[in-house]
Amino acid sequence: PTILAIESSCDDTSAAIIRGGKVLSNIVTTQAVHEQYGGVVPELASRAHQQNIIPVVHQALRTANVSKSDLNAVAFTRGPGLLGALLVGCSFAKSFALGLGIPLIEVNHMQAHILAHFIDEPTPQFPFLCLTVSGGHTQIVLVKDHLDMEIIGQTTDDAVGEAFDKTAKMLGLPYPGGPMLDKTAAKGNPDAFQFPVGNMPEYNFSFSGIKTSVLYFLRDKTKDNPNFVEENLEDICASVQKTLIKTLMKKLVLAAKDLGIKEVAIAGGVSANSGLRQTLQEYAKKYNWNVYIPAFQYCTDNAGMIAMAAHFQYLKGDFSSQYVSPEPRLKF
Ligand code: ATP
Ligand code: FE
Repeated sequence: PTILAIESSCDDTSAAIIRGGKVLSNIVTTQAVHEQYGGVVPELASRAHQQNIIPVVHQALRTANVSKSDLNAVAFTRGPGLLGALLVGCSFAKSFALGLGIPLIEVNHMQAHILAHFIDEPTPQFPFLCLTVSGGHTQIVLVKDHLDMEIIGQTTDDAVGEAFDKTAKMLGLPYPGGPMLDKTAAKGNPDAFQFPVGNMPEYNFSFSGIKTSVLYFLRDKTKDNPNFVEENLEDICASVQKTLIKTLMKKLVLAAKDLGIKEVAIAGGVSANSGLRQTLQEYAKKYNWNVYIPAFQYCTDNAGMIAMAAHFQYLKGDFSSQYVSPEPRLKF
């Protein structure tokens, strides 16, 4: 099948074309408007999606050399995400499908982050564990089949992406903070400072504690030396990043051991983090895992991953009605 997929759950407007399971185009427009506010402003995101969606869809079709009449289905992100942002993609997809008389496919954004692993070879073998780390979620998922997944652990408060972004903000790094913190950390000493590692039962996480401890740490240190942050920026970033990664890996190791699984993947925006990618490679050697790390363009939000999910759903005949509406807290 040839499918048009749309992603609009947060601040990226994206459209992709997939044919026979191969992604032919994947256009992503990032919204610059949020930079001046230091975070995503939901109302502005919706408006930018409205402006971007038609040009992005056109470009996806043109790049793939596919015309509207070639399409067999239209897919969109139903949730989770920002309601106003999701509404734009959902409404557009519904009208497009209705106009062309083709089926509609609703996709779960978090499942799609994981299914990004099926865009390119090598693909993980079932069952595998996926550590999904993004701006709004931190999950350990047992993936039994393309569309059969079970969350076995998750954060009880903040997402790890939020911890990256908020720490970056406290350090005065420009938005979006995660990638900047990563870059700065690469030049620092990860053992320079100690931060507490949150400890939750089973495979669950907590990331609000480290945020507070960084806040108090900076407050105390700048009391004695107002230039403390400038003088130690690289070491602070490296130390915080190391702590966040250690917290994630501890639970991933535990889950892999308990379940006896050696196929291990990471997904979501934070899987673009160079420290996490490198650590996973090290653990692969240490624990004899086969690890799967997405290409950079499929880590953060993109419609290619929505298209990949839609492909598997199409094969199963999993279609939606025109009465479907976005679900900001969609679960699977
Ligand atoms: P969700 O998928 O949970 O709905 P989202 O779609 O907003 O949230 P993604 O686009 O998947 O999130 O990921 C964005 C997050 O990834 C942000 O928190 C961002 O800071 C983080 N991120 C991106 N690149 C890096 C990096 N190199 N290092 C650390 N964090 C990063
Ligand atoms: Fe996402």
